[in-house]
Amino acid sequence: MILPIVKNQIEKDGFCRLPAVLICSFADETGKLGAAALASFDKRVKLTANDAFITFSFDDTLEEKAEIYRVTVEKGAIRVGFRDRRGAVNGAASVALLLRKKKIACGEIVDYPDASFRGLMVDPGYGVADMPLMESTIRYMALAKYNYLHLHLIDKMGPGYVSKAVPEYKFSGEGTPWTLDTLREIDQLCKKYAIEIIPEIEVPGHATAIAETFPDFKCQVKDAQSWTVCAGNEDLYTFVDKLIGELAEVFPDCTYMHIGTDEIEFTNYPEGPLLCHWTECPRCAALRKREGLADMREEFYYMVERCRKICLAHGKKMMMWSDQIDVSRDTVNLSRDILMDFWRVAAPGRGPHEGCTFEKLLEKGFTAINSFYRYAYTDEERFLSSEKMKTWTPHTMPEQSPAYAAQVPGGKLCIWGFAYKEKYGYYGYVAPAAIMLFGQKLWNFNDLEYTDEYKAAFAEYLFGGAEYACIFDCVGDVMPPKTLEFFTYLPADQIDLSLVQKSIDMLKANTDCFIAGDYIELLEHIAETARNAAEK
Ligand SMILES: [Zn+2]
Repeated sequence: MILPIVKNQIEKDGFCRLPAVLICSFADETGKLGAAALASFDKRVKLTANDAFITFSFDDTLEEKAEIYRVTVEKGAIRVGFRDRRGAVNGAASVALLLRKKKIACGEIVDYPDASFRGLMVDPGYGVADMPLMESTIRYMALAKYNYLHLHLIDKMGPGYVSKAVPEYKFSGEGTPWTLDTLREIDQLCKKYAIEIIPEIEVPGHATAIAETFPDFKCQVKDAQSWTVCAGNEDLYTFVDKLIGELAEVFPDCTYMHIGTDEIEFTNYPEGPLLCHWTECPRCAALRKREGLADMREEFYYMVERCRKICLAHGKKMMMWSDQIDVSRDTVNLSRDILMDFWRVAAPGRGPHEGCTFEKLLEKGFTAINSFYRYAYTDEERFLSSEKMKTWTPHTMPEQSPAYAAQVPGGKLCIWGFAYKEKYGYYGYVAPAAIMLFGQKLWNFNDLEYTDEYKAAFAEYLFGGAEYACIFDCVGDVMPPKTLEFFTYLPADQIDLSLVQKSIDMLKANTDCFIAGDYIELLEHIAETARNAAEK
C-alpha cells in the first residue's frame, strides 16, 4: 500500500531487486523536477543522464488528467510517466514510499487526485519556524502530494517577516521573523515540489500591531480599540498596497494573495469585548455616505473590493476567510472571482450567523476551499481526528448539496500554533501525521479503515519503515494526541511498557527522521503515565 492510497494498482509476479545505488535519469525539465524530488526524499538516489534504474519521462498514453502519473515496477527497473510537473512530483512521492518497503512487488500504479486544491496552512504570524522545520514540513507535504502552502504571515502581533516596504511595522510574536530572502528560500523549496505558496496578510481584524504602529488607522472614537482598523482611512489602502506589492515581488509565481478578513468583532469576548467601531466612527460614516453603503456589512465588502483591486493590480487573484460575509442576504456585493476560505460560520457576537451556512455561500455563486475548523484544524483535541478522517471529504462536511461539488475544489489543513511553542508545544508529533491523514482525504475521497496494512504504510511515510507501526500501538491511534495534557489515548493499564521502550530505542537509532526526537518525548511521557499508574 502507498499513501495517500492510490487509485489503481496492479501487482504482478516477482519482486524488484534494488541495486545499492539507485541511478535515476530524466528525459526533460519536468522529468528532472521529479527526479530531483525523488533524490531529496531518498539519499540513495543519484541523478544521471542515462543507463538508469529509475527513469522519469513524459507519457502521452496517460489519460489527460491534471497531476496524473504512472509508476511501472519491473524486476530490474522503475519507470515514472507523467503529463505535467505535478504528475512528475506525485510519481516521485509514490516511488519514494515504495523504496521504503522491505520488498517491492512488480506491477503498475496509475493515480491522480480527487481534489485539485490540497493545501496546508502554517502561521508565522504567531510563531516563526526555523528553516529545518520548514524543510521537513514541506517534504512531508510533498510526500502526501499537497500542492498549496498557505503562509499566515501576519496576525495581531505583526508580520512574521521583516518588511522593507513598511519597516515601522514589526513582529512581537515568538521566534525570529523571517527576512525577505528567507521567504524567497521557502518559495524555492516549494518550487522543488511544484507546491505553490499563498501568502496572507490580515486586515481589517487581527490588526492590533497595525493600529499600534499607526494610531491613525484606529477608528475615530474615544478610547478606540486596536483589533479592527478603520476602513474609512485612505492610508489603509496604501498600506495594503505596499504589503501586497512586496509579497508579489517575493512570490512572483503565486496565483493567490490571501488578505485575511476574519473575525472583525468579538462582542462576547469574556475578557472584555474586542470591538469594531465602524458603526460609531465619523470617518467610517463619511465613507458609507460617499460610497452609498447601507451599513457596516456593505462597508466591509467595499474594503474587501478595494483590496481585491490591489491584488489584481499586482497580478494576483484574491483569497479571503469567509466568516464575515452575510450570505443570508439576497445581495452580496462581492466579486465571485474571490476564492473563499471557509473555516466556519461566525459564532453569535462574532459576525453574521443567522441563516448563514457553507451551502448558502456556494448557492451565492462563490468558489470555496473547505477549511472547516472541526475537521481541518489541529489546535484542539476535538477537531481533526483519525476517526473523523475515515469518512470526511471536502464535499461532505460541512453539509452541502452535491450539485455544488465543482465550487469546492478541495480543502486546507490549518496547523495553528505551528511554531508557537509557548502555546502549542506539540507540533513535532502532530503535524506530519495530520498532513497525511487530511491529505489522504483530499487525494482520495473513499472511506478509510486503519488496517495493519495502512498502519505499516503510515509508518513508512512518517518514520521511514513499516517496523515503526508499533508506535501507533503505544499511542493507541495513528494520530497522536494534540494537547500536552494527553499523551496517550490508551488507559494507563493497557500501555505495554516494553513496547514503548522498544519504540524509543528504534527512534533513537533513526538519525534520518526529523521528528524522531518529538516522538521520543511523546513516548517517554506515555511510559511515565504507565509507571505512575502502576505505583498507585
Ligand atoms: Zn472608522
